[in-house]
Amino acid sequence: MSISTASTVNGWCLTSISSSRSQKVSLRPTCVATSKNSSSPIVPPITLIRNQPVFAAPAPIITPTLRDDLAYEEAVNALKSFLIENGELESEAASKVAQITAELKTTSGGDKISAEAIERIKQGFIKFKKEKYESNPGLFGELAKGQSPKFMVFACSDSRVCPSHVLDFQPGEAFMFRNIANMVPPYDKVKYVGVGSAIEYAVLHLKVSNILVIGHSACGGIKGLMSFPDDGPNSTDFIEDWVRICLPAKHKVLAEHPNATFEEQCSQCEKEAVNVSIANLLTYPFVRDGLVKGTLAIQGGYYDFVKGAFTLWTLDFGLTSSQSVKDVATILQWTLY
Ligand SMILES: [Zn+2]
Repeated sequence: MSISTASTVNGWCLTSISSSRSQKVSLRPTCVATSKNSSSPIVPPITLIRNQPVFAAPAPIITPTLRDDLAYEEAVNALKSFLIENGELESEAASKVAQITAELKTTSGGDKISAEAIERIKQGFIKFKKEKYESNPGLFGELAKGQSPKFMVFACSDSRVCPSHVLDFQPGEAFMFRNIANMVPPYDKVKYVGVGSAIEYAVLHLKVSNILVIGHSACGGIKGLMSFPDDGPNSTDFIEDWVRICLPAKHKVLAEHPNATFEEQCSQCEKEAVNVSIANLLTYPFVRDGLVKGTLAIQGGYYDFVKGAFTLWTLDFGLTSSQSVKDVATILQWTLY
């Protein structure tokens, strides 16, 4: 495979990736390293090879240069020019570009929505840069060298529960994984690669000392878990299979609170699901090792944004390396703070 830069426009470079069997065209940010020497192989970042944090060393200062008037047109024109220069791609790919362009232009309101979003992003970054980035050169200077967060945090994707706001986590302080209903699935190298890789990276490479799982009030994912049938044909592509990770929490709540209202059952399940996630964390061997060695602690949390309250509980148990996960799960002791 070889890679060559065809043209650069408005912060994007149009890149041709060739192999012996196929040729593809892609648009990628110019900050992604590309080789102008077509004979040079693509070399992975050296930080990956050395098992160093790959999220370190961002560009020193990013000045907002978004231009909502020209970016799209210029990108399309650059793509067309490139296709013409590469005749073998022209017919099929160019017609696809024309089709996509036509669809986008006939989408009512799309331009206005996009412009509003771009403006919001610009203003947000300008505010961040002025009030935080430029006023904390020491902090961001250190973060440019690498990250060593103390926490790994699991939180819901819900827009109301961002841990950086709720717990005032500063940049570099918490390695986040947010998903529907803040769930941690059990160790599974096939089904849950995304979550597993994040936990592995946080524990083994960043060496976080705490894993915090935060549930929250009025969680739509938990409401779904309590509403969906336990099995059978799904009505969603992904959601039902995902939230069923915490089926044990649902079953426990229904068994212990059979006469409670649905809302009360959901509220209880929001907390029990955190416990299931914590138990699932113990299925990861590197998590268990960290607990046994005393280099890692696990906490559960619950943010009630209706009452403005946060409950934290921690794990208190004696764990030996010979204990099975099942044995460990039975000796969880919770202390409410
Ligand atoms: Zn939620």
